[in-house]
Amino acid sequence: MANRLHIDSNATKLASTDFGKLVQANPIAVLYPSSINDIVSLVKSSYNSPNPFTVAARGRGHSLRGQAMAKNGVVVEMSSLKLSSNESGIRVSQNPSLGFYADVGGEQLWIDVLRATLEHGLAPVSWTDYLYLTVGGTLSNAGVSGQSFLYGPQISNVYEMDVITGKGDLVRCSKHMNSDLFYAVLGGLGQFGIITRARIALEVAPNRVKWVRMLYHDFTAFTRDQEHLISINGLDYVEGSLIMHQSPPNNWRASFFSPSDQLKINSLLTKHGIIYCLEVVKYYDDLTIDTVDEEIRQLVKGLRFIPGMMFKKDDSLVGFLNRVRSGELKLREKGMWEVAHPWLNLFVGKSGIMEFNAAVFADILHKQNHTIGPILLYPLTRHKWDDRMSAVIPEEDTFYSIGLLLSSVDNGNWEVLEDQNKQILDFCDKAGIKAKQYLPHYRTKEDWMNHFGSKWDTFQQRKAQFDPKFILSPGQRIFNSV
Ligand SMILES: Cc1cc2nc3c(=O)[nH]c(=O)nc-3n(C[C@H](O)[C@H](O)[C@H](O)COP(=O)(O)OP(=O)(O)OC[C@H]3O[C@@H](n4cnc5c(N)ncnc54)[C@H](O)[C@@H]3O)c2cc1C
Repeated sequence: MANRLHIDSNATKLASTDFGKLVQANPIAVLYPSSINDIVSLVKSSYNSPNPFTVAARGRGHSLRGQAMAKNGVVVEMSSLKLSSNESGIRVSQNPSLGFYADVGGEQLWIDVLRATLEHGLAPVSWTDYLYLTVGGTLSNAGVSGQSFLYGPQISNVYEMDVITGKGDLVRCSKHMNSDLFYAVLGGLGQFGIITRARIALEVAPNRVKWVRMLYHDFTAFTRDQEHLISINGLDYVEGSLIMHQSPPNNWRASFFSPSDQLKINSLLTKHGIIYCLEVVKYYDDLTIDTVDEEIRQLVKGLRFIPGMMFKKDDSLVGFLNRVRSGELKLREKGMWEVAHPWLNLFVGKSGIMEFNAAVFADILHKQNHTIGPILLYPLTRHKWDDRMSAVIPEEDTFYSIGLLLSSVDNGNWEVLEDQNKQILDFCDKAGIKAKQYLPHYRTKEDWMNHFGSKWDTFQQRKAQFDPKFILSPGQRIFNSV
């Protein structure tokens, strides 16, 4: 293992930054494991040392605020497992009780899981909008997207995991085996173990998608229609977003609207200031190719979008699921992917969504005019989340996933955007809005206790059980101050 530990500045520099570009923390060393045993040895050596050091698994470093960093500790570059292994870290199988599933290394990217499973005509059911994230990284949070209303988040679609705990034990866990560890790790912010393998549910994959966007200026009609669509059978994906002059219709998340569509949208924007865009997808294949258009017509019948403001696209499944990639590559070319990203992700209970719209979208964001980047807004249902998992959501049957995916221009205005985020959080607090941060970041123990609410005691007990020396993922700043 020792020769896999690098202390040179090339290695430590990379591990001291992330996508957010807001936090920096230098590790002492970076481990490039060639096997799971290398990670076991590392964690064991820390656990057995009189002076334990911290260890953070780093998936792709797409965290926003240093969550995969380990100041003065060791960062484990999980992608190294993928490069070292001779065999693919993605194996597709089937058994009578589970049906189809894939055993996937925690270091694997979801895009690779998609490609490997499609070779068998299969695919996972629950996704994130962006696929160049690791399985271990998204399962440590939740993994939400437009399919979550139907299948739950990615953490609701895992059958089993292999996990290296903070004691250096490699433990297999599932609902039926070491279930405490299983539920702790799902949405557990890396606090209880390093996921080395996850068994993911698969279904037969469709070939193609019908992708539809409808525009609203009335927020009540927009949210009612979103909630209606997630309550009926028929669609495979439901999301939504805001369009404002500062948050244009086409952005890096997907280039959807033609230039003439954009002209129409711009004149709506001039009239209304904010436009809400409802986005749905229906999968289809050779068997349903002749009926899918009629099914969509029926599904959108009675919806209250602005007459004429419905836009359609036909795409392959991969083209749709991997929709963010081309935007990413364009931004990378222009050097605009590497800017600071003071994102704010919230889950807001349905009871507060009207007030949130009035105060945050129509007032703070619209009036202050700082917003630069996509703003997402779509409903999810609580019953698709198992309360035993560590992930935290509002205590309401329906809640909204809200993503303010802000990018700072030339790194100049991130403080202004941070200030705006603070105003939004302060508003939620004062107005008593039932909101929880997703991809949470807090500075004080009180804030974390408040975040976890009734789950805090269990979270703490599980930490004492699985990582009693506070070794793992210190960058979350829950049990470690740095
Ligand atoms: C462009 C972009 C789009 C995104 N879209 C979505 C989206 O649609 N939906 C959504 O839910 N999220 C989304 N995210 C957020 C994403 O889920 C998080 O960034 C997440 O942290 C995954 O990133 P990562 O794989 O690079 O993990 P990292 O940032 O490297 O790690 C995240 C945390 O998990 C820990 N960790 C990493 N690997 C493991 C492992 N194997 N075992 C245990 N702990 C581990 C780390 O120590 C750290 O604490 C998006 C992020 C970006 C940058």
